[in-house]
Amino acid sequence: MKSLICKIIGHKFTKINKLDDFVVNYQCKICNQKFTTDGYGSITKLTPFWEENNLLFKKYYKENRFQNS
Ligand SMILES: [Zn+2]
Repeated sequence: MKSLICKIIGHKFTKINKLDDFVVNYQCKICNQKFTTDGYGSITKLTPFWEENNLLFKKYYKENRFQNS
């Protein structure tokens, strides 16, 4: 019961970012679930909603940066 360990002692997060990722993503070493940081900086489970959201956010961020420079 790997997920039970996570429930008791908490997830063991490790960063799984690609180099160009703006949003920090994590994976739990024990249960292998993926997580991301939400707009408030707290860690939340990486659902398809967040994957989509992060892609949009990254796109928006890049476009803004190009406009400012
Ligand atoms: Zn876990």
